[in-house]
Amino acid sequence: MKWNEAVLSLKSYQPGKSTDEVKKLYGLEKITKLASNENPFGCSEKVRDAVKGSTHSFAIYPDGYATMLREAVAKHTGVKQTQLIFGNGSDENIQIISRSLLGAGKNTVMATGTFSQYRHNATLEGAEVREVPHLDGAHDLGGMLKAIDEKTAVVWLCTPNNPTGKYIPEKDLLSFMEKVPEDVLIVLDEAYCEYATAEDYPRTNQWINTFKNLIILRTFSKIYGLASFRVGYGLADEDIIQKLDPSREPFNVNTLAQNIAIVALEDQAFIEKCKDENQKGLKRYYEFCDMENLAYYPSQGNFIFIHFKQDADVVFQYLLERGYIARSGKAFGFPTSLRVTIGSTEENEGMINAINAFLNEVEAPSDSLL
Ligand SMILES: *Cc1c(COP(=O)(O)O)cnc(C)c1O
Repeated sequence: MKWNEAVLSLKSYQPGKSTDEVKKLYGLEKITKLASNENPFGCSEKVRDAVKGSTHSFAIYPDGYATMLREAVAKHTGVKQTQLIFGNGSDENIQIISRSLLGAGKNTVMATGTFSQYRHNATLEGAEVREVPHLDGAHDLGGMLKAIDEKTAVVWLCTPNNPTGKYIPEKDLLSFMEKVPEDVLIVLDEAYCEYATAEDYPRTNQWINTFKNLIILRTFSKIYGLASFRVGYGLADEDIIQKLDPSREPFNVNTLAQNIAIVALEDQAFIEKCKDENQKGLKRYYEFCDMENLAYYPSQGNFIFIHFKQDADVVFQYLLERGYIARSGKAFGFPTSLRVTIGSTEENEGMINAINAFLNEVEAPSDSLL
């Protein structure tokens, strides 16, 4: 058959093992999954009530314009309703952007060691992918600027960056934005922005009025705890939104997801609580790592990237067999680092104990072997 060449070069997304699989495989009763940066506290209780009380007809197509959700998000973010696009998760918004702007003869610039879907979608569209090596887990903005040429259509920035947790400080981001040519779309993926506490972490909503080549991506999958419902949104100048919209599936966000995202947005007390708990969890990991002389990146997200001076898959496997699922950094290009999602206090203590047991039981290979 006449497959597109790009399709033949790609593999399916490899999700982490499910808790049921791990239970069966190792005969475990309890599994603690801290592998996908999901919210350990689930979602707002008000969402649960709304799901139970939902009366909409299953036979009717969703509102393709997501009118009510659009109103709610516009109010929450302070942008115009016409400056919003909704996706079946940020994943779909990344796909929409790629379909609309990338293709053969164009290139796209991103960091190494960042979210995998930028590269995946760009490759599918047949664009050249220019990966700029990260600087100790942070985006090399100077290097990214240099990589841009007249064929560059999209630049991807992830802040806080998945998997490293590093962020781009406001003044660095602004100075980058000012230097990027106006005909290059800058995608600012802020999937974890609600967790960020650094004073110079920029609050960017109004930047779309200044930078007509900026789109900001947000999601209900992380701090809002609604990953299974698949809702993401983009903020951008009206002209960008209008140009992207034809690449969007007409009924991409289902009715229940639209309705409960509104409810989730209203419960900001829940969001504040999750943010506070996340800070406590991060501090606990920092303390532990400092005590054990484990290097790590300070994180602005709900995960921590820990460096083990040995094969991360070995650490991953040890933890897995004891019921703790983390994410090896290998797939991200960090072969000796492990990404751990910050969980509840109990989950964090369990994970820390398991890591501690690993450090005590498994001799680290001497530096000369690395
Ligand atoms: C999780 C994640 C996404 C995907 O979010 P969905 O809305 O669930 O599709 C996008 N970008 C980054 C950086 C993420 O970590």
